[in-house]
Amino acid sequence: MSEGIAQPDRPQEPDGGETDLFSKFDDIIAMREGLLSQGREDPFNLVMEQVLSPTRAICNGRETILLGTYNYMGMTFDPDVIEAGKQALADFGSGTTGSRVLNGTYQGHKECEDALREFYGMDHAMVFSTGYQANLGIISTIAGKGDYVVLDIDSHASIWDGCAMGKAEIVPFKHNDIEAMEKRMKRIPEGAGILVVLEGVYSMLGDTAPLKEMIRIAKEHGAMVLVDEAHSMGFIGENGRGVAEDQGVLDKVDFVIGTFSKSVGTVGGFCVSNHPKFEIMRLVCRPYVFTASLPPSVVATAATSIRKLMHGSNKRAHLWENSRTLHKGLRDLGFELGTEEPESAIIAVIMPDLEQGAAMWEALIENGLYVNLARPPATPANMTLLRCSLCAEHSGEEVEQILAIFEKAGKAVGII
Ligand code: PMP
Repeated sequence: MSEGIAQPDRPQEPDGGETDLFSKFDDIIAMREGLLSQGREDPFNLVMEQVLSPTRAICNGRETILLGTYNYMGMTFDPDVIEAGKQALADFGSGTTGSRVLNGTYQGHKECEDALREFYGMDHAMVFSTGYQANLGIISTIAGKGDYVVLDIDSHASIWDGCAMGKAEIVPFKHNDIEAMEKRMKRIPEGAGILVVLEGVYSMLGDTAPLKEMIRIAKEHGAMVLVDEAHSMGFIGENGRGVAEDQGVLDKVDFVIGTFSKSVGTVGGFCVSNHPKFEIMRLVCRPYVFTASLPPSVVATAATSIRKLMHGSNKRAHLWENSRTLHKGLRDLGFELGTEEPESAIIAVIMPDLEQGAAMWEALIENGLYVNLARPPATPANMTLLRCSLCAEHSGEEVEQILAIFEKAGKAVGII
């Protein structure tokens, strides 16, 4: 050991002199410890020891029905998807080790972008490493200092982070409120660059946006429109292109953002567009340039899945049926739900408070049902939600089983 150099064998304790940068997390640490001290299973630390199918896993040694994944179309175990991934892994190796603009564009990335262009019937498609990065990258790159981003107050974190990174003026409006949006648009100076950012389905309550009216207003004010269709791709709309397709306004959308981590069944994100200058994004969009591209196996599974989703109308119909049955069943049991009618594959059950929400979550998992426990700040209006997201692979019997577990747990906890 060289002389004069301290070699501590463990990290040094803080000497108490510095400001602890972790103190800002004290409230959330206390909330978590409070929940766990009541003997509850940790809702944010569930481990799936084995995954049996898109709808079943072994959690805590127990076979569990999965009702809290984004595997809407059940593509994760599709034999063609798995085979494509295996083949690409064997042929191209485990990773690209580089950015898309250097050594990270393989044949598979091009084929994946071809599949997306075909799926949406659009001229350009750009694949990112996640959906989060797609929003971050596109929003921050096209809406810069001096521009305006008009967005729904309940927008996903990746949209807010994209706005912050781009340094545009942020103009939020009340969730899904057409009049509030129009009022905000009227206050923006004439001639300013405006990007209106909307989501097809809002993932907390599972409600859809009135895209038709909002896009009309956006266009009247000379704005460009970006729609995040993360939770609708593959399922909503005649061809599964999303809520904009369903409402007949896809041709008026300038940028569609999506993800491979939901209906497509793997990981990755994308933007599709008809903008004639869109390809320049590949050189100027930092979250595209300064990160490694997706592994070959991932883009191969994504491309295969996207092509199969083009022919998924039977699965889409079954998923709608599941959504309607679960929504009606839960409402009939006396639960308060996030929407009057089922609008997507997400059914949000509103809990009286976090305590009872956590108790209900635990009662469900003990009875073999996994849902998402969602709490502020991710939720609107400080709500605690049990978010149920259905899969096209849930059978009718499974949906009945799910309702029976909700009834048992709801009565045990005293919520119904
Ligand atoms: N947009 C929305 C609306 C989302 O809900 C999510 C993820 N939950 C994303 C973007 C990010 O997608 P990814 O998981 O691919 O990062």
